[in-house]
Amino acid sequence: MDNTSYSTAGFSDRGIDQALDIVADVGFPQVEVSGRQPHLGSRLTGNELSVFLSGVASRGLKVRTMHAPSGRTTLGTTDQDWRKQEIAILHDYILFLSDLGGTDMVIHPIPNPIFVENAYAPETPELVREGVSISLDALVPVAQQAGVRINLENLPYHCDYPYRTMAELRPLVDPYPSEHLGLIIDTGHVGVLGNEIVDEIRSAGPRLSGTHLHDVEGSEDGTDHRGPTRGFLDWDDLLGTLKEIDYQGPYTFETSIPAADETSEQLASFTRQFAVDRGMTD
Ligand SMILES: [Zn+2]
Repeated sequence: MDNTSYSTAGFSDRGIDQALDIVADVGFPQVEVSGRQPHLGSRLTGNELSVFLSGVASRGLKVRTMHAPSGRTTLGTTDQDWRKQEIAILHDYILFLSDLGGTDMVIHPIPNPIFVENAYAPETPELVREGVSISLDALVPVAQQAGVRINLENLPYHCDYPYRTMAELRPLVDPYPSEHLGLIIDTGHVGVLGNEIVDEIRSAGPRLSGTHLHDVEGSEDGTDHRGPTRGFLDWDDLLGTLKEIDYQGPYTFETSIPAADETSEQLASFTRQFAVDRGMTD
């Protein structure tokens, strides 16, 4: 079964319709839609929603997952006003995912320090931790009602905030129902932080419900999102460990940085060919 998917994050230079065209043209059966401009930067309702959904279906695609807005939108908000605002945005997007027929919503548990006041103050990591708990307690019931799952992603920030690895995220999600809260491993982010991909996949274990597959060349945020095999990740180990833990979720490629002289269409096509060559599409 072809359980591959491609993220519209690969096409931040064009609108959602053109992005969907390419995802379908290169052969992916599923798509991860981005909840930011120029893609789904606001919730569609009514006729706009119907038109969008028939456009997806007419391309032979399925919206499998959605990436919630990110940037300032996160669970780990460090003050109440900020938290109230982001919980409301995420609440709305969880309902939007359900309208789109998707199963899983990617959410960034912690903020990039660039968005945090007093980002490096000694008390900030604890405020982030608290924000994550309060926001999860507010949003997991929303996912439950909507019949979808929230997946928390490991992020590539060099700071002392909690929840940057699967090892730390796993005990956070364990007490919540697995149908409505899971983990998504971002393979490039693992590489940026210098962690071991095999260990991280094993730490997520049965709570792993999503993937952001891409390669990484260095240890800085931004050296990732390369096509598979174009960085230092060992793809045999990576894919082998997903099999080993009996991973059942989608294989979602989140490649967005083309090689020199390559277009984003060619990157999508290269990535599709990788999936075909690795037997991921049978
Ligand atoms: Zn990601």
